[in-house]
Amino acid sequence: MLCYNAYTKKHYLPTAREGSHSGLVRAPAKRLPWDDRGRGFESHSLRQSSMPLIWGHCFSREKTMPKYHIWTIGCQMNKAESERLGSYFEQLGYQPIANAEEADLIVVNSCVVRQSAENRVVNKLNALRPLKRLRPNLTLAVTGCLVNADLAQLNERFPQVDYFFKPGDCPQWLEKPEWGQILPHHPVPSTYVSIIQGCDNFCSYCIVPYRRGRNRSRRVKEIIGEVKELVNRGAKEVTLLGQNVDSYGHDLPDQPDLADLLRELNAIDGLLRIRFLTSHPRDMSPKLIEAVASLDKVCEHISLPVQSGSNEILTAMRRGYTVEQYRQLITEIRDKIPRVALSTDVIVGFPSETEQQFQQTFDLLSELRFDTVHVAVYSPRPGTLSAREFEDNIPAEEKRRRLNKIECLQEGIAAEINARLLGKTVEVLVEGERKGKWYGRTRSGKLVFFTNHNNCLGQLMNIRIEKTSPWSLQGKVRRGK
Ligand code: SAM
Ligand code: SF4
Repeated sequence: MLCYNAYTKKHYLPTAREGSHSGLVRAPAKRLPWDDRGRGFESHSLRQSSMPLIWGHCFSREKTMPKYHIWTIGCQMNKAESERLGSYFEQLGYQPIANAEEADLIVVNSCVVRQSAENRVVNKLNALRPLKRLRPNLTLAVTGCLVNADLAQLNERFPQVDYFFKPGDCPQWLEKPEWGQILPHHPVPSTYVSIIQGCDNFCSYCIVPYRRGRNRSRRVKEIIGEVKELVNRGAKEVTLLGQNVDSYGHDLPDQPDLADLLRELNAIDGLLRIRFLTSHPRDMSPKLIEAVASLDKVCEHISLPVQSGSNEILTAMRRGYTVEQYRQLITEIRDKIPRVALSTDVIVGFPSETEQQFQQTFDLLSELRFDTVHVAVYSPRPGTLSAREFEDNIPAEEKRRRLNKIECLQEGIAAEINARLLGKTVEVLVEGERKGKWYGRTRSGKLVFFTNHNNCLGQLMNIRIEKTSPWSLQGKVRRGK
């Protein structure tokens, strides 16, 4: 499967397990490996290779096979969905193509969580307009959070698009597959599995519930079957995805929860690590904390967005907790899971956020010292409560100043946290190779680079850390005990 990276504006083949694609020259992986699986525009990467089994014959069949191209922006859910779409197209006989101009089918997987993301989607669709005019037989489809219920308005705005389908849905014009069963033939070692769609929270600023709908959890049995199959095909680590992953199961008849699911997955032979994101502070139960603390495969790595350090702003955001409750939760997590790595999300410049309220956010981050902070400037989203009720009254330069101040603070904190690993040996699951160096992550999610002559993709390696920075670590393989 071909991938597109929005930052480098380049296509690439993700690193596949050596030897699995006979007859193919391996292209170097160009995914930004330091992206921390982060937010916003970090990548268009498809993290799995799902080449069809007939890959070795592709060259002779190339002329006759229809070609597809997927352009992806946004969160991990979008990435996971693009991976599955790619697998689906390949099972229908399509071949991936890097150059959109040569494709018979183009899918734009969109994000509108912030205006800047929406702008890039609109620019992309406008750029595809002449191509569609030139080649009317080309199928152009859009999925992701741009797709709302008002199809007439979408058709009018983007007449060049043939089909719109909701995020997580199956393309309506193609023969319906067993949707959950469209798994990559050769998953990368660390792979995503969506376990819950939608969100019931309706935070005042957020468009997600309007576009992805209400909570819909997948059945435990179905998820277990999928993870077992991914492991059979080579996956070593799974990251369970949901906009609000810790509300998993509340909508299912027998109401299993995320802790129950983790326990079941922990028993799968051959699976080495399990992660999950993103959690909501209100749904992070003592039972879930206990599960992370006690299950050996569940990594000590929790993503728990706080959004603001001011109770007034949290109320206006409709987050459903106070700063005091959030602080207490972090204390409990750190108590029960001593080596836990924590990441959070923050929005600056929410309507009427005063300097003092911003300072409260800054102080909370200084006090709690997260491993990673994803900071975004507030962006009013039409249709959301905050866009309707509050004026977007913090000037853009002021929002940017607040964002820079937090980024600067966090750079210092991350540098100090990572420096503590200097001279220590960490266990790394190797995810790929780039510019002659292997890279992978620790259980706590730290990105580590090292050199090794042999192929070690998908292996757990002990690496002695020799150099640290706020964003990544470098080290050497430690042999023996
Ligand atoms: N469900 C998670 C939570 O409870 O925070 C996060 C999902 S949300 C799609 C991802 C991040 O985008 C949020 O944590 C928030 O920081 C950011 N975000 C969402 N809406 C935004 C907006 N209107 N303006 C700026 N950032 C926004
Ligand atoms: Fe959006 Fe809030 Fe749901 Fe997260 S919890 S997806 S921020 S509505």
